[in-house]
Amino acid sequence: MDSGKESNGNRKTNSTGNEKKVNVPPNFIRNIIIEDRDAGKHGGRVHTRFPPEPNGYLHIGHAKSICLNFGLSEEFSGKCNLRFDDTNPIKEEEEYIRSIQEDIRWLGFDWEDRLYYASDYFGQLYEWALRLIRDGKAYVDDLSADEIREYRGTLTEPGRESPYRNRSVDENLDMFRRMKAGEFKNGKRVLRAKIAMSSPNLNMRDPVMYRILHASHHRTGDEWCIYPMYDWAHGQSDSIEGITHSICTLEFEDHRPLYDWFIRNLGVHAPQQIEFARLALTNTVLSKRKLLRLVQEGKVDGWNDPRMPTISGFRRRGYTPEAIRDFCERIGVAKSNSVVDISLLEHCLREDLNRRSPRVMAVLRPLKVVLTNYPEDRIEYLDAQNNPEDPSAGTREVPFSREIYIEQYDFREDPPGKYFRLAPGREVRLKHAYIIKCERVVKDEKSGEIKELHCTYDPHTRSGSTPDDRKVKGTLHWVSVNHAIPAEVRLYDHLFTKADPNDVGEGEDFLSSLNPNSLEILNSVVEPSLQNARPGDRLQFLRNGYFCVNAGSALKKGLVFNRTVSLRDTWAKIEKKISGQESKSGSDETV
Ligand code: ATP
Ligand code: MG
Repeated sequence: MDSGKESNGNRKTNSTGNEKKVNVPPNFIRNIIIEDRDAGKHGGRVHTRFPPEPNGYLHIGHAKSICLNFGLSEEFSGKCNLRFDDTNPIKEEEEYIRSIQEDIRWLGFDWEDRLYYASDYFGQLYEWALRLIRDGKAYVDDLSADEIREYRGTLTEPGRESPYRNRSVDENLDMFRRMKAGEFKNGKRVLRAKIAMSSPNLNMRDPVMYRILHASHHRTGDEWCIYPMYDWAHGQSDSIEGITHSICTLEFEDHRPLYDWFIRNLGVHAPQQIEFARLALTNTVLSKRKLLRLVQEGKVDGWNDPRMPTISGFRRRGYTPEAIRDFCERIGVAKSNSVVDISLLEHCLREDLNRRSPRVMAVLRPLKVVLTNYPEDRIEYLDAQNNPEDPSAGTREVPFSREIYIEQYDFREDPPGKYFRLAPGREVRLKHAYIIKCERVVKDEKSGEIKELHCTYDPHTRSGSTPDDRKVKGTLHWVSVNHAIPAEVRLYDHLFTKADPNDVGEGEDFLSSLNPNSLEILNSVVEPSLQNARPGDRLQFLRNGYFCVNAGSALKKGLVFNRTVSLRDTWAKIEKKISGQESKSGSDETV
């Protein structure tokens, strides 16, 4: 069986989707890199980095950035660093640092020995700040945060110069050293770059480089009480590491002139910044601040709740790294923001799971069927194919007996038109077994609820062993009552009902479209071959979808399965509509 562990690291030998790359989506960054390499820029080197801030778990948007940065460096025999952008001592936690590394590895990428922290560069950044002060390009400002904001101006109005802007170099050096020595309280002074208060680009209006923050840092402890702003730390960190292509999301386009200004004025290695559009997904929020709220307010069961769009949530839900990487490849890289339909992600997942998942029978909402003409003590072991997509997966034996469970949804007392499943007097085939006929419906006398069905089986119709000339339209999955293993099954749905959860009315926030039915828990039964299933194992429950053994619950509590994704492929339909053509996938819906 396939477990999360086994699929880990299999990437190079078992890379998915090469046959699908007929339509390689546009990736303008790849083109830039090719041009640079051909022109001999950076000596033909390609060195990227993934720079997460350790203030939350990674989500699917980060996966896009990870696939880009690590993927491009691999493609061009370059290197990719992992660097924690840990410039803010207040929001960062060790738990995030651990989880981020775990998630990147699980996705199948490796930073080798290149794990860095922006905090490693605090000393160098401080030296460089002194240099800018000496060159008359930075100054200590005594204005308060509010005043600085007010002086900054707006998009239509130029900013005003601070009265402290023209302090002498000596005074600035003295003040800055005293800031570092801890002489001033939080917020009392800042160090600013001296650029231009009238620049049309607000980022160039003397941006703050350092602030005073008397707080312990997870790595530097109490060594510092001034901390570099992100805009001051980021570009220089890239420069120190010799990054050639500094790939970031679109909102940093307006920051590029500032980053270039710092690099130019310091005269250090200049990485090339390239911006791309952030991933946004329907029915999902991807802001870490919002995800944190879901966790803190108990709307979900932690960062790795299987409904969360986090890498760890997807992992627990049963996603494969291959499917996520395939998705990231297929969405391509663009220069303008757009929203990707979540059904595309699910489509990539199904394609991968369809190939690799053993098929088994599980009855999610059991209804008992007694085969009145089947001998009471007889048990037959029927041959069942493990994966029709993969003959090498072999077969297994499934026990069949007089009492079986079928799905409640597979019986209707009063069947509507085109209902080809079981109904009074009707016949269906039991998968891998016999044709049965419904003879009697047994109900609870008081409630009228259906308790069980009495059926007869036709001994001449055993699958595979006798010619099957009788046509029955419905084929149902089932589990033998005496051999059934009870299991908890968790059906997950989208966390938000609205395609755009951020599109809310007045006085509402994104939580207003939280889906109240995003989790349904069922008491189900599964076939006995699953008694040794291990956490992380992935399976297709025939006709019910793809499931995995929950990795979070104690095994002695019994088996718990998470529904990874249903079988119905809405993306295939969308695609069909778009292209007007037949889509190849999603064909595993029937059994
Ligand atoms: P948030 O705004 O949710 O806090 P962030 O961009 O601040 O996200 P970081 O930890 O700084 O989160 O992100 C690390 C890297 O991942 C950055 O290079 C960022 O550009 C990239 N990234 C974050 N979110 C997305 C997204 N939705 N799509 C693509 N890349 C993303
Ligand atoms: Mg960020």
